[in-house]
Amino acid sequence: MVKRSTVSEILDKATRYLKRREIHEPRIDAEVLLAHVLKIERLEIYLTLDCHLTEKELSTYEKLIERRAGREPVAFIVGYKEFMGLKFFLNKDVLIPRPETEILVEKVIEKAHNIRKLRSCQYRRDNSLTIVDLCTGSGNIAISLAKNIPSCKIYATDISEGAIQVARKNARFHNVEDKVEFLLGDLFCPLEEVKSNLTVDFVVSNPPYVKSRDLALLEPEIKREPLSALEGGNDGLNFYHRIVPQALKYLVSGGYLFMEIGDSQGKAVMNLIRKEKRFSRPRLIKDYAGLDRVIVAQKLRF
Ligand code: GLN
Repeated sequence: MVKRSTVSEILDKATRYLKRREIHEPRIDAEVLLAHVLKIERLEIYLTLDCHLTEKELSTYEKLIERRAGREPVAFIVGYKEFMGLKFFLNKDVLIPRPETEILVEKVIEKAHNIRKLRSCQYRRDNSLTIVDLCTGSGNIAISLAKNIPSCKIYATDISEGAIQVARKNARFHNVEDKVEFLLGDLFCPLEEVKSNLTVDFVVSNPPYVKSRDLALLEPEIKREPLSALEGGNDGLNFYHRIVPQALKYLVSGGYLFMEIGDSQGKAVMNLIRKEKRFSRPRLIKDYAGLDRVIVAQKLRF
């Protein structure tokens, strides 16, 4: 009888194979995919190292490893990604949430808490915040904000029907359907239909910002993500050109614009914001790699 391989041996073999196929983190990916097949947490694998897989588990695993070797992102293979400690379902219609975008979300949460504190000191009855999230994709930003800001109403828009479907599914999963409304359409356009004269405390966005000519240089994994969620035109700034002036129309005086940017776009987006006289001096926030990642500006009170 042929000796069946143990989990440990299968993992080693899959890791070597992924490494040969130039996958950046072969061991982690091999473990995540195996945990997915076995329906356990990744670290629980270490309790099963001497166990054997069933034929079916092994053949499923081999198929997933082959997909990964073909440079399909792990998040698309397993169908979800963690962001802000929450699970977000994904498919090929949405960008995979990036860890650096958590910085944007954390800064908005911090500012929202400060505003709420200030308002409660002023004994203001209406302590609810209104937020718009543009280019919401999987809804990761909007839903994380809804989970972390006690009283808020969020309108999240996206031009992709597929993305809106994924985002709604995520909102249902996280039980925030009453706080987040997903709307199909271009940037602020769908808001007009919801409510004329809507004013908001925050405009938040992680728009597509990759320069068109840089698209060809992206990793094969990123090329599996929707182009429309990545491409920001010749200089990568198309969306900022449109969002910055339009945000002024919707923001209350003293409200904030928070946007993710590409690491080399800080200066250009700062200048765009400075041109609009009604914004304060914008501030750049760095990501954990020390790169410019978020820009924030406040609409001035007259
Ligand atoms: N940060 C993404 C990347 O890795 C780009 C995301 C975006 O365009 N908003 O390319």
